[in-house]
Formats: sequence, structure tokens, C-alpha cells
Amino acid sequence: MPELPEVETICRGLNQVTPDREIVGGDVLLNSSIARPISATDFLAKLQGKSIFRWYRRGKYLLAELSQFPAGEGERESARGGDGEMGRWGDFRFQTPIDSQLDSQLSASSFPLPPGSFGPSKAGWLGVHLRMTGQLLWVDRSEPLPKHARVRLFFEGNKELRFVDQRTFGQMWYVPAQTEVANTVTGLKLLGPEPFSEEFTTAYLTRKLHRRRRSIKAALLDQSLLAGLGNIYADEVLFVSGILPATLGADLTAEQIERIHSAIIQVLQKAIESGGTTFSNYLNVQGVNGNYGGVAWVYNRTGQPCRQCSSPIERIRLAARSTHFCPQCQH
Ligand SMILES: [Zn+2]
Repeated sequence: MPELPEVETICRGLNQVTPDREIVGGDVLLNSSIARPISATDFLAKLQGKSIFRWYRRGKYLLAELSQFPAGEGERESARGGDGEMGRWGDFRFQTPIDSQLDSQLSASSFPLPPGSFGPSKAGWLGVHLRMTGQLLWVDRSEPLPKHARVRLFFEGNKELRFVDQRTFGQMWYVPAQTEVANTVTGLKLLGPEPFSEEFTTAYLTRKLHRRRRSIKAALLDQSLLAGLGNIYADEVLFVSGILPATLGADLTAEQIERIHSAIIQVLQKAIESGGTTFSNYLNVQGVNGNYGGVAWVYNRTGQPCRQCSSPIERIRLAARSTHFCPQCQH
């Protein structure tokens, strides 16, 4: 299942290929892949004649701001009609110090706007959630259709954005013009802060874990606590923190919470730099696997020697998910 680093990688890839090309048509092969509007015909009709201004990521959601094609100069500058919106984006700062190269990559590409900034756009928005097995691929329209192709969006120049989804849990939304994105993509309202945002501090994490009788693993998977982590990176974060996944929130010390906070940022940054994982059937928009898999500490390494102490990695069932850890390095 794609998690924050994979979705971020896809988002950056999409920003390199889709902007400023007219959407000239499409084909919905599975109606249930379109969450809104109800009619797939309406979905395609609304997108036709528009272009993608820019993709953003929020949690595991991909959100593309649309503009009418061709956009006038002024419109290209600010599809949401006003310098105020862009100024807010420009003023966004990361609280956590990260190296300057990554900082510029993040701010220059697809790092999300702060929550609440997915405001109305003159031409609407396109939303995508990949869920378990969704893939977005940028291909030539003549490329043979795979069995699980669900939605095709045709762009000028015989290019295509192809949504392929074996398990069919993935969804797409068209958000009408002049509408807040979260009014259509309602799951956005439930998301907690972004890991790289100002809001995500050790104090915040402490408040959320303090006195809670649930495991830290379950807490890290809770999208309303923190947006973007899933099973793979939750296990990796807890290994890097040296904390057993079953530890209850209430039993964590201030020092342990501090370690978890920095491990979240460190693990996600590293995964973004590596371009995602090979754990699932995740592919980037060019159809190439990411390469975090080779450096996983514990995820999917049951029985293999710990990279730090050589003890066999163990697996348990926790929060209804497979959970991997080192019984020696994690306490
Ligand atoms: Zn170990």
C-alpha cells in the first residue's frame, strides 16, 4: 500500500509531466473508481478542456488543481485567483531543521499546502487516493491496456494518465469549481497534521499519546493523529526509535516520544530521497520501482538477521496488521 513517501514521489513525478497539457478526453472502465460525481460521464465532461495546474499531496491523497485550458497569463500565475493564496503557500515553513537540499526539493515540488489551503479553484480540482493497489502511470495512449486499468485520462500529444488498480479500492474525485476540496473529498477533514509541518511537534505527539491505552503502533497508523504513515513506515519508525510496537502510549517516556518524533521525520525523509519502496506493487509514474526496499530495517524481514544485532526479526499481529520488530534492539 503506498504511504506518504510513495505518494510524494508520485506527486513529484506527476508535476514533471502533466501540467499545462489539455485534457482532451478519457474513458472510465470501472464506474466505482469515480467517487464524485456519481456519473462517470459527468466526471469526464468536467475534466475535458481543462489542464492540471499543479499536484499536491496531503496525507496519502493526491490533489491536482485544475485550470481552464489554455490558461491566460494571469490565471497560470494563480489559478485560485489572488496572490494571497500563493503567499500563504510561500510563507509555509518547516519547523524541523532538515538539510537544505531536501528543503528546497520539498518547497519547490509537491510539498502540500498547509491544511485548510485546498480552497476553491476557478476550474475545480481532481483528487486521487490510491488505497491498497492503485497506480497512476503516465504512458503513451497506444500502450497496451493492462487487465486492471480503471480510468484513462487522455492528454494532448497522445499522452495518457492511466489509473490501474487491482483491488479496486482506489478512488478519484472531481471537485467542482468554487468548492472547498474537503467538501467533496471528505476524508481530508479527518486527517491529522503532516509530519513535516509546524503543527507536528513533540508536544503535539505527547498530547496525543499521553494517557492513551493503545499501542504506539496503532497510534502511528491513525491518520487523524498523523497523516501519511502506514504499516511499512510505522514498523521502520519504531525500529529506529528502539521502541517495541506493542508499548502503550501511556507508558512512553518523554525521551521515547522525542525519539519517535525525530524517527518519523528521519525515516520519511530518507524514503522520499530513495523514491519510495518496493514492498508493495508501487510504481512511480514512469512505471519504475522505488528502491527503499533494500535498506528496510525490519519490514517484511521476518526471521532474517537484524541489521544491527543479528537477532532474527520477529513478526506479530498488532492493530490488525503484520508488525515487524527486533526483540533485542527494541524495548
Ligand atoms: Zn536488533
